[in-house]
Amino acid sequence: MKNFLTFVLAVTFCLPLMAEVTVVKNGKPLGRIVCLTDDDATRNAAELLRRFVSEVSGASIPISYNHNISPKKGDVLIGETCNAGEDGFRLLTRDGILHIMNGGDKGAIYGVARLLEDYIGVHYLASNYYQIDEHRKTVTLPEFDRVVTPAFRYRQTQSYSLEDPVFKMWFGWEVPQEIFIGNLWVHTFNKILPSRRFGNEHPEYYALLNGERMPGDHSQWCLSNPDVFEACCRQLDSIFAANPELDMISVSQNDGNDTYCHCDKCMKIYDEEGAISGAYIRFVNKLAERYPDKQFSTLAYLFTYQPPKKVKPLPNVNIMLCDIDCKREATLTDNESGQSFVEAMKGWAEISDNIFVWDYGINFDNQVSPFPNFHIMQPNIQLFKENNTTMHFSQNNAIRGTDFAEMRTYMLANLMWNPYCNLDSVKSVFLKRFYGAAAPYIKEYQDLMEGALIASHKQLWIYDSPITHKDGFLCPQLVKLYDQLFDKALQAVRNDSALTAHVRMSRLPLMYSKLEIARTSPNTPVDIKEQLARFEQWTDMYNVQYINERANTPADYCALYRRRYLPSEVPSKALGAKIIYLDVPGLKVKGAYDVSPLGAPDKGYQKIAYEGALTDGLYGGTTFVESWVGWLGRDADFIVDLGRDTVFSRVEIDFLHQLGAWIMLPKGGTFQVATEADGMSKWKDFGSFSFAEDREMQVKFVAGKAEVQTPRIARYIKVHIDGLGFCPDWHYGVGYAGWFFLDEINVY
Ligand SMILES: [Zn+2]
Repeated sequence: MKNFLTFVLAVTFCLPLMAEVTVVKNGKPLGRIVCLTDDDATRNAAELLRRFVSEVSGASIPISYNHNISPKKGDVLIGETCNAGEDGFRLLTRDGILHIMNGGDKGAIYGVARLLEDYIGVHYLASNYYQIDEHRKTVTLPEFDRVVTPAFRYRQTQSYSLEDPVFKMWFGWEVPQEIFIGNLWVHTFNKILPSRRFGNEHPEYYALLNGERMPGDHSQWCLSNPDVFEACCRQLDSIFAANPELDMISVSQNDGNDTYCHCDKCMKIYDEEGAISGAYIRFVNKLAERYPDKQFSTLAYLFTYQPPKKVKPLPNVNIMLCDIDCKREATLTDNESGQSFVEAMKGWAEISDNIFVWDYGINFDNQVSPFPNFHIMQPNIQLFKENNTTMHFSQNNAIRGTDFAEMRTYMLANLMWNPYCNLDSVKSVFLKRFYGAAAPYIKEYQDLMEGALIASHKQLWIYDSPITHKDGFLCPQLVKLYDQLFDKALQAVRNDSALTAHVRMSRLPLMYSKLEIARTSPNTPVDIKEQLARFEQWTDMYNVQYINERANTPADYCALYRRRYLPSEVPSKALGAKIIYLDVPGLKVKGAYDVSPLGAPDKGYQKIAYEGALTDGLYGGTTFVESWVGWLGRDADFIVDLGRDTVFSRVEIDFLHQLGAWIMLPKGGTFQVATEADGMSKWKDFGSFSFAEDREMQVKFVAGKAEVQTPRIARYIKVHIDGLGFCPDWHYGVGYAGWFFLDEINVY
């Protein structure tokens, strides 16, 4: 692992005094680990070194905390300082003594990890999974003098491997609560001035939206109001007093799109600055002046992602820049959405050298799906480095069971320290160690899929569905090849349970994709039940907790799949029924599109609706991009024409609940029926349904239904669905119209 974590400052030179250092000889320690300072970094570094030298050699080196000790040959000194920057370190052998010097913060720990990796042959790969090259009785280190500084002073990712504290230390991962006061690191407006506490008395603190002050969990502050600044400072005074040990805090917009203040004074600032961010930077600069010994982080995200024209962030203002809207099939410089981000980033880099980039390599809605983005990771991270990024969060698919979670985390760990490392070599080292004899097949699978994505010219994005790629990199011919490769991979490691587990976990995204694609096809695969059972068994066996960001579990998914997507034993009598949309004036709010007739779905969903999506027997999944038909800010009014008089006792509509996408259940609905002889004019009540407010983040499929004791005969069913109108004040979309979605109407 020659290239592991070697940033540009790594230098090697030989001095006459330098020599090899033997720390263990014939199973006995020759010296001591001497801690020269009393901090946690030094202590953890010493313990880490002792543990792994002992695993390699069987010898436990004593640790001394006596600062006045006279060093002797074979000793390891930890805690001297060096000029390597925050989290950097220097490794030096001189006069038979090993020096592990700390450039600042946790540098000593990372120095030990590097020493173990590069010179003692201990290779950490994933949570509680590492390999030792050679167990031996004598541990001798060659001559070296290396200084290493990480490319980013703060390195964050999202990975299950971080549950293992040694893995986290090994690669120098950090978490927000280690540097941000009170864990206030993003979307903090409502945490600092909760609208529930201040909104009633001071609605003027909050955004003016559609002509009204809208205090809400996701509405922004009215930043031009000087009282907001003072109220914020009063809150910060007490937060700072309670957290004296840290100096960085985020004062940043709540999550949600376009919920910024539209009052005249705020609008004037946006205008003067040529960007909404101008008002945010002016506000945070004032905080930075009031508290010069603190660091203030603020978001450049969604509506604030363009830099301001006039104001420049002060040196103690950190810009957290997010590329959430960009696509991932090509590097940021090579796709249109990315180019707009790069332009904004260059603008920020011109006015700030204190940038925190939040990048995404994740599929939020279908986490256990292939996400072939390895080819863009290195160029993108180099771009961040070259544009004044000093702190970096790479939010990735790396919970258990997601697409190459372990390899992705390992690649990123290397890139975080050195964006210019030889990534091909990093990848092949990982493949060989983590997959053993299965490595060539896994590599072929990755390469094949990556090539197919690029050739398909389809976008890869963070709310993707495998179904989007069913004619692209997940087309039937390729899926067959992928399956063959995994069969060979499993065959190659059949006698090794750990490697078998690695291969099986890596296969889960392909298995999930096949299930998802199968449910959109009218011809259900003959082995679908076996596929589902195996997916359920493996996700359980390998402790896969979630299949999407909304905390839906694999077991729920499988149960739902059996209920929703396997051919029903009692088919709906509405299969193939015609839908006639009505012109009954429904509730219509600002921001809702004009449609005709008024009871019809919104424009983007009319094509699929008129093609029969509501009565085709196919249900939608957790992503609203397929099968679902949506109404925005209005009611739905339509007639289901069963074609002839039909006997039935139950009518059901399937709705989607997905708060993150502004999709909420409607208030309720009513059904009326008429026979062929009555025609579409004499209606009789059949029943109604209503829904309680639901604030849970999980994606849900909820039926709105009515049932009668004595079956009725009718040809026509008239449906009215009562929409929510505006999003409620606790929701991201406060002040804007909300959606409801349905995918199927069933009659039994
Ligand atoms: Zn305002």
